[in-house]
Amino acid sequence: MQSFDVIALKPIADINPSYVEVNFNNACNLKCSYCSPQFSSTWHQEVEKHGAYPTSKPHNDPEHFQGERRPIPNKDPNPWREAFWRWWPDLYKDLKHFRMTGGEPLMDPNTYRVFDYVLENAKPDLHLNVTSNFSVDDKLFNKYIGYVKRLCEGEQIEHFMQFVSLDTWGKQAEYIRYGLDFEKCISRVEQFIKDVPYRSSLTFIITMNNLNIVNLKKLLEYILYLRKTYTKTYQRVWFDTPLLYTPEWQSMQILPNSYSICLEECIEYMNNNLDEMHGFKDYEVLKMQRDLAWMIKGTDDVERKREDFYKFFNEHDRRRGTNFEETFPQMREFWNDCKYRSISRRL
Ligand code: SF4
Repeated sequence: MQSFDVIALKPIADINPSYVEVNFNNACNLKCSYCSPQFSSTWHQEVEKHGAYPTSKPHNDPEHFQGERRPIPNKDPNPWREAFWRWWPDLYKDLKHFRMTGGEPLMDPNTYRVFDYVLENAKPDLHLNVTSNFSVDDKLFNKYIGYVKRLCEGEQIEHFMQFVSLDTWGKQAEYIRYGLDFEKCISRVEQFIKDVPYRSSLTFIITMNNLNIVNLKKLLEYILYLRKTYTKTYQRVWFDTPLLYTPEWQSMQILPNSYSICLEECIEYMNNNLDEMHGFKDYEVLKMQRDLAWMIKGTDDVERKREDFYKFFNEHDRRRGTNFEETFPQMREFWNDCKYRSISRRL
């Protein structure tokens, strides 16, 4: 990477960044509702077979992912990946934080190539981070855990942060992230915490969207249980609550204001369980309050976005054999409202 003279916009030196995040390819076994063929090969297969989703502007249209936008399959030559591996030995010496996302990194041979390199070239100041859906098959997961154990023994690295993408609880979590095995995912969360007891932590990435909030408190209860059970000398369990902006029909901002009670209950629960090590932290509460304020602010063009909500999930149920009304009984009134808007526009 080159450093620039910002006045003359001329490169003045070659420097290596200390923080690097990579997405080697789009191989993924899930097709989460808010994802796309760019990041998930399973999404790619679906739209190749069934076409775009019939929202007001066709969504995840396979035509869009052609030419330069076509994700390069793992088995094909990939000049970007090859350039990365040429750079890697030089980059590695200056790295402090390296994060692998996806796709699903546990399915990617490049992840294990990085691990092999780190095992052969210990770097005691390195923070190694991997984001996963924790839903790959057992053989692959056991291989992965074996590697992480070896990386965290001794002084190979400074710290390993495991990011796990999970938005809410049970069947609703499985609906949002199609292909997720919820029970398997949470049993692996505990396996990870127990099997890798040193130099590691786990962070839930909870994408805040209009489907995860009705049962979010259950996930927070589970996080509290994990902190009380497994945090001893340093915090083992973290979570982050980034907002979903797109697709816009899955944003919290299209919900009626009555849904704010879901987040208000979460905030109350967190406030009742404040504790630096074994409870919630004040800045976590503040972030949830900011998420709530953003949700209440609302958005424009709500009618069209609600119509798209119905069009997308109605098609989702048809293609994938899911059932929105059975999975989200608390949202029946909202569903019917979106359905009515969508159907009445066609009449
Ligand atoms: S696990 Fe990640 S990459 Fe795979 S479909 Fe879900 S969001 Fe996309």
